[in-house]
This record gives sequence, C-alpha cells and structure tokens, in this order.
Amino acid sequence: MSFELTPEQKMIVSAACDVAKDFDPEYWRNRDKNHEFPDDFWKALVDAGFVGIPVPEKYGGGGMGLYEMLLAMETLTSESCGLAGTWFLCLTSVFGGLSLLKHGNEDQKDKYLPRIVKGTEFCLGLTEPDAGTNTLNIQTTAVEDGDHFIVNGRKTLISGADRAKGMVLITRTTPLDKAPKKTIGLSLFLVDLPNPAVEVTPIEKHGINYSKTCDVYISDLKIPRENLLGEKDKGWYLILDTLNPERMSFSVAAGGLGILAIKKAVEHAKQRKVFGAPIGSYQALQFPLAEAKAKIEAARLLTYKSAWLYDKGQPCGAEAAMAKVAAEEAGYQAVYHAMQTFGGYGYTVEYDVERWWREVNLIRLAPVTHQMALAFIGEHVLGLPKSY
Ligand SMILES: Cc1cc2nc3c(=O)[nH]c(=O)nc-3n(C[C@H](O)[C@H](O)[C@H](O)COP(=O)(O)OP(=O)(O)OC[C@H]3O[C@@H](n4cnc5c(N)ncnc54)[C@H](O)[C@@H]3O)c2cc1C
Repeated sequence: MSFELTPEQKMIVSAACDVAKDFDPEYWRNRDKNHEFPDDFWKALVDAGFVGIPVPEKYGGGGMGLYEMLLAMETLTSESCGLAGTWFLCLTSVFGGLSLLKHGNEDQKDKYLPRIVKGTEFCLGLTEPDAGTNTLNIQTTAVEDGDHFIVNGRKTLISGADRAKGMVLITRTTPLDKAPKKTIGLSLFLVDLPNPAVEVTPIEKHGINYSKTCDVYISDLKIPRENLLGEKDKGWYLILDTLNPERMSFSVAAGGLGILAIKKAVEHAKQRKVFGAPIGSYQALQFPLAEAKAKIEAARLLTYKSAWLYDKGQPCGAEAAMAKVAAEEAGYQAVYHAMQTFGGYGYTVEYDVERWWREVNLIRLAPVTHQMALAFIGEHVLGLPKSY
C-alpha cells in the first residue's frame, strides 16, 4: 500500500472538492431543516461519475476501486457536505453497486450496473425489528414457488427505501431450526421498487433529515428466481462483502465529519476573544482538538488499509471493524470538542456543529454498533471467547 496518491486518485479528490464547493453547509442546513432530498447534489454526484467509481468501464463506470470511492466520500464529507457526502454514495454504490459486482451474475450486472452508474438509487433491506443486531435471527422468509420466491416479512430502519428503485433484500430461505448451522439459510435478492407488495413508511429521526429511513412491510412479494443474488442459503457469507465496505464508508464519514468540525472550530478559535487572547490559545480547547485530529489521522490509515485489502480480494473484516471503532471515536470526539469551542453558538443551528453532532452520533449506532464491533474484535482478532 502506497501512502502517495496516484494521479487518478488525486483527480478524484480534486473533483470531489469541486463538487463540494457548490454544496456548502448552508445548503445542508436548509435541506436538513426542510427535510428535502438534495436532487441537485445527487445529480452532481452522477455527473461527476462518483456513483460508478468502482463499477467497471464496460458498464459505464470508472473502473476503480473502493479505495477511490472512499476518497470521494471523505473529501465530500470533510470539505462541506457532512455525512451527506458519504451517505448517498453508500446507499447506491455500496449497497447496490458492490453487492452486484461481487455476487451478481452477468445478466444481473448487465441489467443493473449501467442504471446504477446513471443514478438509479438503491437501498439495503437487512435490519428487522425482532432481530436487530442478531442478523441470523431475521424472520423475513422467501419460499420457493416454481420459478419464483414468495417473500413475507418486515424490515425497519431502511434508508432511502422511499425513493430507491432497487433493494438488496436479505431473507431466510431455510428456517433457523432446519439449517445445518446458523449461518446457512440466508439468501439475497434484488427487488425492483416500487412494488405494491412492499409498503414503505418513513420513520421520524434525529438527523440526516434530507434522506428518509423507513419501515418496510413485505406481503406476498413475488420475486423471479433470476433475481436471486449469489447462491441460495449462502447469503450470510455474501453480504459481508457489502457490510465491510459499508463500515469503511462510515469510517471515512466519521473522520470526514471530524475534519470538517475541527476546521470550523479552529477558524472560530483563532478569531474569538473573550479575555483578550484568542480562545484557541487556551490548552483546554486546543489540546482536545489536537488529540482528535491525531486520532482521525490514525483511523484514516486503518480505514484505507482495509479498503486496499478489499480491492485486492483479501480478508478485511478485522481491519474494517477496527477502523470503524477508531474512526467513530475520533470523529465523535472531534465534533464534541468543536461544539465546546463554539460555546453557546455551537448549540445554535446557524453554526452547523449541532447538525454534525446529530450526524456523527449515528456512526456509533450504525451500520454496526460500537459494542458489536468491539465484540467482533474481541472474538476474531484477540481470540477471546464469544461474549454473547
Ligand atoms: C438512521 C439509520 C439508518 C439505518 N439504515 C439502515 C439501512 O439502510 N439498512 C439496514 O438494514 N439497516 C439500517 N439501519 C439499522 C442499523 O444497522 C441498526 O440500527 C444497528 O445495526 C443496530 O441494530 P438495532 O438498532 O436493532 O440495535 P439492537 O440490536 O437492539 O441493539 C441495542 C443495543 O444493544 C447492544 N447489544 C446488542 N447485543 C449485544 C451484545 N451481544 N453485546 C453487547 N451489546 C449488545 C447494541 O450494541 C446496542 O447498543 C439504520 C439505522 C439508523 C439509526
């Protein structure tokens, strides 16, 4: 792994800076306040070729990797867009694009990848109310019926389901009590949306209000066999190739939010004087920001290492989990101390830090919770007994 960006990677960063210039914090403040989807931002991402960064050129994509995708996400986030800089690319390019690239057959790739590159939105239907973090306990079933599967169940907290034209849906095709082992019996499907058998209801939430997160009720949904993604019953092993890049995406988002918040806090701390000297000269404010900055840089190395492994087709689950823990903590500290630096202004909407605070809080809860990422590291990296 090289620490120097290639000319192509530098171009991605520069193009992301150009896009970000048109979508400043005020733009996101208004979108968040008015609960408005950022149509023009999504168009800009499509036009810049960002949605197809990891998609091979034969499908109209950029023919690069997850590493380059993360560079775009991180730059958009840290320049001005906050979590939105990562969010929309994660929903469509990671959930849709990478799932298909890793496990789609040629017909599925020919059908969906060119659409994804052109901005057809995707979402991921994994979480269920009664399973939560315990994915193997999902209750949504897909039952074979000739050349179709009939799906019934309920998903919750599904982001972008209100607009998506495609969903990667995780179901049980073999009941848990009949499966040879717990990790066998899950299957992935490509679902075309909207569909009358899929009822989507947005859930009110704490932040990221420019994008909806939804309850999804599925009732006798008929999915043709050709929409089975990868091998039946092996879905648990396949979906990890989507969940690991999702973790990496949220790692660059946490770091990017931290970089953005520190940048704004430093500007403020240099000019704000309350006892004669700039408040940034007080170590009580300066050191926590410096510490967060150091931790963000360390987390970035681990995140890009995990993407480098992913692009090489090597195991990256441990690195992705460790990067997520490190980045999420660093980003959280950075935004927290940025808010302290702004004092009372930090609590007002006008200074944006309160929005970034709402955004960075998500990354401790999703896509994998802080606790479950630590449990994974404890078991799989340290070799300790499974804690649950
Ligand atoms: C805004 C938002 C967007 C989302 N978007 C999507 C999406 O697009 N698609 C999708 O499928 N999901 C999505 N999710 C769901 C998200 O991935 C889950 O919320 C997350 O994985 C946690 O699951 P849960 O909420 O059911 O928590 P639970 O599983 O109920 O866990 C609750 C708490 O208990 C802790 N806990 C549980 N078990 C253990 C254990 N064994 N050891 C230690 N601690 C434990 C957890 O760490 C957590 O702190 C989204 C969530 C949010 C908030």
